[in-house]
Amino acid sequence: MSLGRGGACPPPGESIPMTGRTHDLAAATAVSLVVLRQPLPPIDAVTLVACAVATFAGGLAPDLDKPGSKLWRQVPAGGLLAWLVRPAFIGGHRNLSHSLLGAALFALGVQALLHAVPAGYIRVVPVWTCFVVAYLSHLVMDSLTEEGVPWFFPFGGRLGFPPLRPLRLKTGGWFEHLVVLPVLWGVLVYTWHAHLPEVMALLKALGASGR
Ligand SMILES: [Zn+2]
Repeated sequence: MSLGRGGACPPPGESIPMTGRTHDLAAATAVSLVVLRQPLPPIDAVTLVACAVATFAGGLAPDLDKPGSKLWRQVPAGGLLAWLVRPAFIGGHRNLSHSLLGAALFALGVQALLHAVPAGYIRVVPVWTCFVVAYLSHLVMDSLTEEGVPWFFPFGGRLGFPPLRPLRLKTGGWFEHLVVLPVLWGVLVYTWHAHLPEVMALLKALGASGR
């Protein structure tokens, strides 16, 4: 949903999510910044693809508290599932899932899921790390918006940066499209360029899947 394109206003009391595209890009940028700075262990193609999926899912997972959000739209029967699990997202949109507590709960859930995969099929730690970093990137990006996020839910209110709300982003507005997205692209491309050998090694691992 976007304030900028249609010019429509949200219903009273409803907060607008930052666009899914911005979260996708922020997740990819955050994961690249964190992962490419570490010494990369040998990685197989299946784990690499799982890392990409985890990055995509982690970057959008906090908005599972909102039926119709981008990640729900990728899931078969997502509308029904969203309705069924809605009570678990205490407080509704931008509450539990947009907090450190929510991040910890999702991290534990994903860890359990990954450990359910037969041993040796994928490397758990890189995939889990990608999910958690991407998830946290979502909270950081939403913190830049007028609505802020309740980092310490259930304690305290919503926090944002800068602290003065009028200085924050209007979600989906021109600043997000003309400044935030290009800056994220710039950081992502710079990071990949600065770590070209590591990026090439990862692409090589992907290529090796065809053997
Ligand atoms: Zn969000």
